Amino acid sequence: MSPAETYEVEFLDAEVVEAPRLPARVTPFPDEALASWLLRFADPFGVSPKALLLGDGEADLATHPEWWRKPDPLLIAAVARSTGVSDDDVRALTFADWPDDGRDDALPERFSRQRFTVERPARQPRRIGVCPDCFAEDDIPYVRRTWTLGWLAACPIHGTVLVRVCPDCGKKLRLPALSSRDHFAPDRCPHCAFRLARTSTRAAPEPVVRFQQHVLSGRPKGIVDLPEVGVLAWPVAVALFDVLLGTVWIDTKPVGRDRLFTRIARDLGAEPFGEIADAYQGLAILTWMLEAWPMRAQAALAILGAVRARRQMQRWPSLDTDVHAQVEALLLTIWPDQQHPAGRAWWREWIESLPETGDDLRAQAARERLPHRRARLLALADVRDGLPVVVAAEAAGVIARTIYIWLRHGAANGLDAALERPRWLYLTEPQVMELAAWIAAAPPDGPRWRSNRVQGEALRRFGTEISINVADRLLRRHGPWRRRKVLKKRRFSVAPVYD
Ligand SMILES: [Zn+2]
Ligand SMILES: [Zn+2]
Repeated sequence: MSPAETYEVEFLDAEVVEAPRLPARVTPFPDEALASWLLRFADPFGVSPKALLLGDGEADLATHPEWWRKPDPLLIAAVARSTGVSDDDVRALTFADWPDDGRDDALPERFSRQRFTVERPARQPRRIGVCPDCFAEDDIPYVRRTWTLGWLAACPIHGTVLVRVCPDCGKKLRLPALSSRDHFAPDRCPHCAFRLARTSTRAAPEPVVRFQQHVLSGRPKGIVDLPEVGVLAWPVAVALFDVLLGTVWIDTKPVGRDRLFTRIARDLGAEPFGEIADAYQGLAILTWMLEAWPMRAQAALAILGAVRARRQMQRWPSLDTDVHAQVEALLLTIWPDQQHPAGRAWWREWIESLPETGDDLRAQAARERLPHRRARLLALADVRDGLPVVVAAEAAGVIARTIYIWLRHGAANGLDAALERPRWLYLTEPQVMELAAWIAAAPPDGPRWRSNRVQGEALRRFGTEISINVADRLLRRHGPWRRRKVLKKRRFSVAPVYD
């Protein structure tokens, strides 16, 4: 070490001694966000964190509104110095060590519908989502670092869908600015002081929480490890997610989307999504598509009547060329440009000789009153249009063998025979009771069972293929799971001010 460096070190040490000693040492909580910790730290002094902890020179480093997410090393050192906490401990409250610029982390509701339909989303800084269940358990409420990730949908601990809008006044939840001198109470809405711990909560289905955990655990390394797809670099994964969600939101019709969302909610064992197409719904769509990749993504395109992969990719001209090429390669393997293989399937001759086109069959389905005939007409319309049987089956919520049976009946005895319901689709009364008892004995505290589990069990026990609708109805009727208890909202009024 040169003498000059020695001198510098000593000089810094001397400064620490001269700095005003802070009476209270506030220790950061697990996964606390730097901004939350600084606000708590400064709170007892009645001054802003900026004024208390940063000198004039350092305040210049903190001009960017999101500086606390990816702070400059000099700033970390400054905060460490004035709080008596180590550099490493301060850095752990930020995303300083995460690769990339963090833009995709900072944008609120990154995978919500808005991202695909609004030209320029409002860039309100410091937007957060909060978990009411975490607040309910906190002795001293604080904001978690993970809650500041714009794409996070559910609390990693409770699986509760994060609350991003005050349920009482409808204002979006934000962290206070670091120049704020107001009392820091993150468990209350900053506008109307509503107690957020009392918010009624929605539980995200277990598969969504698991998928989110995959993304979350890869993110610090700059990767996303998707079991069905492979390991993708973060920018490629985000682009893939965007393109997949784009197929859902861009240029699609509400009726197709409703069909898809009903299907997704049912498969995931989730409550219906409702009107708000938020970050949670985005993650749920991705979970569903990726947990049975590539079948589900193909099915989604079929259900939505969306344009082919090559056209989908044209929607994203601003993507980095290399990223664009990687995502396109992924999509084209699941959705090649349509062509029929040389060894043509036996049923093609029949379906292609039908006088009705795919659209005719769909129109007939729309007029049809019996649900099972309607479902078959739609599936046959897909096959008529050249979709692979496995994909049409996925879109219809049946297994491929079922469609082959319809096709066989049709080829042998005409279209109407394909629409008739054979006896084997029914369960006998004792079989229904047996299945109902099995469902009712499920652990009520565990995750809600999914329809395909019931389908599989019926097949195993009785050799009978029941439709996903029947399975779903049995689950609803006999399952021991309750909707999450909704706490009554309690209004919190602030006393009127007289002066
Ligand atoms: Zn929580
Ligand atoms: Zn409010």
